[in-house]
Amino acid sequence: MEKREELYSGKAKSVYATDDPDLLILLFRNDTSAFDGRKIEQLDRKGMVNNKFNAFIMQKLEAAGIPTHFQALLSDQESSVKRLEMIPVECVVRNIAAGSICRRLGVKEGMDLDPPTFEFFLKDDALHDPMINEYHINSFGWATPDQVDKMKKLTFQVNDVLKRLFMDGGMLLVDYKLEFGVFRGQVILGDEFTPDGCRLWDKDTREKLDKDRFRQNLGNVVQSYEVVGRRLGLTFD
Ligand code: ADP
Ligand code: UDP
Repeated sequence: MEKREELYSGKAKSVYATDDPDLLILLFRNDTSAFDGRKIEQLDRKGMVNNKFNAFIMQKLEAAGIPTHFQALLSDQESSVKRLEMIPVECVVRNIAAGSICRRLGVKEGMDLDPPTFEFFLKDDALHDPMINEYHINSFGWATPDQVDKMKKLTFQVNDVLKRLFMDGGMLLVDYKLEFGVFRGQVILGDEFTPDGCRLWDKDTREKLDKDRFRQNLGNVVQSYEVVGRRLGLTFD
């Protein structure tokens, strides 16, 4: 497989075409952004750490029967993925209240959510990713009702697999965001899973080990991502 032209550059990854029309290359950059891109920094090693972390998690999800776009780790900062028709919707599952749900509903950070709750957001930076519901998705044609059911089912399956995986490493999976796309008619996971897109807390101290360290200026951002990886048995050098 040969790398071709850059197709798109997102906030943290760049997407390249390849000589295979079904495959793309994702380049995990060191750029780290928050608050709709108002806070942006380059964090040394982050691209490499997230690329390897993501490959590890995608393989765990595939092993559990969850279809993902992931194909192979190509280099420190690159992986190949299936080329999907992306659905412009973000799926969020929350096991513990944190972040926007606390601001929106006035609940205290740290409250257990049992059962876990689910939210849809429209992926639209200019509109600040507004919260939407299934009726919006259907009325505006962003996905079909079957695709909506599939996204919800897969997002909760990911929760079953990863809650356990992180708990085995002494961590709580607080919440996470996933995006999906369509490949040959099937809805499959088309997102990274890294500490950039989820919240992870130490299970005993509740120390934050995810992108909230960046959002809240807590320091040691990439070092914490590496701690998370090492607790799962990963090495990065
Ligand atoms: P953002 O869009 O939030 O800035 P990134 O910086 O992670 O996100 O950019 C990655 C871009 O690549 C996103 O637009 C995403 O929808 C797209 N993308 C990721 N995986 C695939 C895939 N398998 N097929 C097609 N597009 C993809
Ligand atoms: N998230 C993300 N990208 C987004 C929005 C949210 O990865 O564009 C993740 C975020 O890191 C967290 C979860 O989704 O793990 C829920 O985010 P929330 O709605 O609480 O928003 P936040 O307060 O993090 O902006």
